[in-house]
Amino acid sequence: KKLSSAQIRQMYLDFFKSKGHDVLKSAPLVPQDDPTLLWINSGVATMKKYFDGSVVPKNHRLTSSQKSIRTNDIENVGHTARHHTLFEMLGNFSVGDYFKKEAITWAWELLTSPDWYGMDPEKLYITVYPKDQDSKKILEKVGVAPTHIFEAEDNFWDIGQGPSGPDSEIFYDRGQEMNNLAEDDPESYPGGENERYLEIWNIVFSEFNHKPDNTYEPLPHKNIDTGMGLERLVSVFQNAKTNFETDLFMPLIQKTADFSNGYQYGQDKATDVSFKVIADHIRAITFAIGDGALPSNDGRGYVIRRLIRRAVMHGRKLGIENAFLYKLVPVVGEIMKSAYPEVLDQADYIGKVVRDEENRFNVTLKDGMELMDNLIQATKQNGQDTIAGKPVFKLYDTYGFPVELTEEYADDNGLKVDHAGFEKEMKAQKDRARAARSDAKSMGVQDALLTDIKTPSEYVGYDTLAAAGVLK
Ligand code: ATP
Ligand code: MG
Ligand code: MG
Ligand code: MG
Repeated sequence: KKLSSAQIRQMYLDFFKSKGHDVLKSAPLVPQDDPTLLWINSGVATMKKYFDGSVVPKNHRLTSSQKSIRTNDIENVGHTARHHTLFEMLGNFSVGDYFKKEAITWAWELLTSPDWYGMDPEKLYITVYPKDQDSKKILEKVGVAPTHIFEAEDNFWDIGQGPSGPDSEIFYDRGQEMNNLAEDDPESYPGGENERYLEIWNIVFSEFNHKPDNTYEPLPHKNIDTGMGLERLVSVFQNAKTNFETDLFMPLIQKTADFSNGYQYGQDKATDVSFKVIADHIRAITFAIGDGALPSNDGRGYVIRRLIRRAVMHGRKLGIENAFLYKLVPVVGEIMKSAYPEVLDQADYIGKVVRDEENRFNVTLKDGMELMDNLIQATKQNGQDTIAGKPVFKLYDTYGFPVELTEEYADDNGLKVDHAGFEKEMKAQKDRARAARSDAKSMGVQDALLTDIKTPSEYVGYDTLAAAGVLK
């Protein structure tokens, strides 16, 4: 079937609506009352209150397409076919209502029925937890060929204490020719080290309570929690080698190519990475700012800053010298408007925030890159494999290079970064700032604005540090 991303998203929600689920709106990326979480990273993350029993939902069957951010995947982006910083997770949830039988039967119906997604069952593979023979029996009963069911020891979802249970993962076989494509992780199943078998859907059967004494007791009310990556599903329907060659990303890649110095997508592996990183990051940046976050030096804000700066550096690799990311914001809005019309409404505001941050970084980027290249040269010439903490801190503090970016760049050149040394410099700077503040206090400065600053919101410039005698 040839379906657009908007149709694929809608079909999932319609299917579970027809099975008695309430369709929930995608919750904001900034967690509402959950201080333990930096970003909403899955559908279930928005439903903790239902699963821990603190709120009882009107309907115990829920479904959503939840925007999610995973910072642990930032460095995968551009290098694997399937990872994003921001992606949408399609999910159906049973809060103490239906369990394995319905969850598995419906998943198979949605994927393979010609009335719905109509995928070829030959292309689907499913893993089960070896001790979970119930699920295996149900899978065989709904018609999954035994040769397409694999037992996998690590299919057990457990976060320490609390609800836990076996899970099953559904993989799509993208064909032999994918075997040698990717510089990929060995997580991919069953072949390993390839992107042939694409994990599309994870179904968790939470049936135990993991107790403090590390025993497991059956839960009185068993739950279902599932997650399927929309972008991966779209890549299957649109016959794309990676998630990027789809209607969710190509307009962004096209526009970036227009800004670039004559580069086109699909010409060269290295520049393709840059196109992918930019298309991925601008989506995350746009939605994160739209949901109320702002670039800054810590927490969520630092993630946004890091994404913007990483995207800008990749822009340079495509010959883009001036601020350009902000011009992609309305393109994101256009692509996503059927499910997220608010993005287009906010596009001016989001664009301004992005442009300011780009401009700020562009001022120091050229000099910073020069320093970086010199450092790499010098480190290699000295026969060392690690860049010292002090210059890495200087890159961070004076030129605004997030340390993760420097590390990535060093890694591209076969070098490491002295992380501990960097942290030491960072701490020393904070101590100096604190000392300066308590001085101000002791001098009787009453201005609350001055004494209450918790963290500097901007990196301190070269001049300030030079004046303080920190840099020579
Ligand atoms: P992978 O092994 O590919 O990293 P995962 O097992 O970490 O995926 P889950 O936590 O099981 O992913 O999330 C449920 C589903 O969400 C996955 O099956 C996948 O379709 C999708 N997904 C997870 N992480 C990402 C990501 N970074 N980008 C796009 N989709 C993702
Ligand atoms: Mg993962
Ligand atoms: Mg996985
Ligand atoms: Mg998984």
